Order: sequence, then C-alpha cells, then structure tokens
Amino acid sequence: MSAPLQSNPRRVVWHGPGLPASDGAGVKLSRLIGQPALPDLDPFLMLDAFGSDDPGAYIAGFPDHPHRGFETVTYLLAGRLRHRDNAGNEGLLTAGAVQWMTAGRGIVHSEMPEQEDGLMQGFQLWVNLPAKDKMTAPRYQDIAPERIPTVELGAGARAKVIAGTLNGVAGPVQGAATEPFFIDLTLDAGAAATLPIAPGHNAFAYVYDGTVDVGQPAQRLARDTLGVLSPGDAVSIVGVQPARLILVAGKPLREPVAKYGPFVMNTQAELHQAVLDYQAGRF
Ligand code: FE
Repeated sequence: MSAPLQSNPRRVVWHGPGLPASDGAGVKLSRLIGQPALPDLDPFLMLDAFGSDDPGAYIAGFPDHPHRGFETVTYLLAGRLRHRDNAGNEGLLTAGAVQWMTAGRGIVHSEMPEQEDGLMQGFQLWVNLPAKDKMTAPRYQDIAPERIPTVELGAGARAKVIAGTLNGVAGPVQGAATEPFFIDLTLDAGAAATLPIAPGHNAFAYVYDGTVDVGQPAQRLARDTLGVLSPGDAVSIVGVQPARLILVAGKPLREPVAKYGPFVMNTQAELHQAVLDYQAGRF
C-alpha cells in the first residue's frame, strides 16, 4: 500500500506526560490538555485520560454537573458508564463506545460508573464551539462500538475512525463545527502508518499503550505521553513496540476564550450570565 504524498510532514513540537488530577466526586485521572504546561490546543480545551482497576479511583463518578458553550467527547476503552441529564436523556456507554455531546446553551448531567469492580478506562476530550454555536440546542451522539469502522492501513496497522474521514472511510461523528478528526490507532512492533491531517488544523497524539516514533524527524513517545504536532499535511507514526494511541485534529477557532469550570464562553459577561442561568435553573 502506498503512503499518501507528504509534502509537509508534521513533527512533535511539544511532548509530556499528564498531570495527576481528580475531578467529579473524586475520579483519579491524568490531565493532558488543560494542565499548566499545555493550557489548551485550540479548539481543544481539555483532554483527560482515566484508567484503573481500583474502584476507589472511579466509583464516585461524576454526579450532576452543568456544561455550557462546548462539546464533551467521551471515548470508553473499558468499563460501563451511565449518563443521565436534566432533559430526560439517558444512555449506557460500553467498552469501545463514544459519546459526542454538544452542551450548547446548557445541560446538567451525571456520568456514573455502572460497575463496582474491574477496569474502567477511557478519555474525555472537551472541544470548543464557535461563538455562533455556543447557545445552540443541546445534542447527543451516542455511538455504539459496532458503528465505528476500522481501516486497515497496511501490515500491522489499523485505525478505528471515530470522527472525520480516513482513506475514504467516514467515522460516525460528522458535522461538528471544528471538523474534528479522531482515530484510535493500533500498531504492531515495526508497523508504520502515514495519516493525512488537514493543513491548518491543530493536532495531537496521545500514546496509551506501548511506544511509538512520531513525525519527521521522529520523536519517540512512550506510554502515557501526549505529543502536540507542528503544522503540516500528514504525520508518520511507527510502532517501536506494539502500541495504541489516539490521534486527534481540529480546526482552530481563533476566538477569545473565557472559561469558568464547566462553562466556556467568549467573554466574562457571558460567563457571568452562564452562572446566573445555571443558578436560576435555566439550563
Ligand atoms: Fe460532564
């Protein structure tokens, strides 16, 4: 199989581990984007990785909390997570499932483990919305594992396509404002893949298993390391050991960001209004 033409290969411009953190009612996680060393990566506001077979690290879950002004993306690798919201929506995420939630003008929801032991592993990514969409109606895309296509990329390399399009295969998440590309890549030792990424879109890779070499010139990234990519039109990734990683890209919004906890707007006045609306029960 021939690799796509790379006129402008991407490389790793920043890499580092997550910062241990706790969120919700005490869920232990690793904060990759949203830590002081990497406050954001427009349009991505936050990336958390969680993974533990100790129920004490996850059992408290994320009881009722609000969101306004952005999208939350949950990708579960292992475990069962129940979500409920104040509009009566409810669903169960199982291993391999994705939830793409557009909070828009506001929701109040809970995300609670539906298991008392065993492994709970996955990611939550926060994707900003453009100013024109921040007050849109809330929307869910609950995606079962079997709806996520796998693309063979050559010997020992394959990708699940969650959002965007890879080699003509479209992932189930489409139509998001930031044109996201989100794949889960598995590489055998020695396997290589070259992934096209829209020029001008910001991109990162997060290695959650094994070790890979990323970009040209290559940067070695070990397990639990995030690599931010330079501009370019494609990235090459080689499995040094059998490896798994997520590769995510999106169109930067280049708009002012005003953040206060689970509210992400453009101005302080809009943030203040979000707090007032939440306190008044208007979500
Ligand atoms: Fe939430």
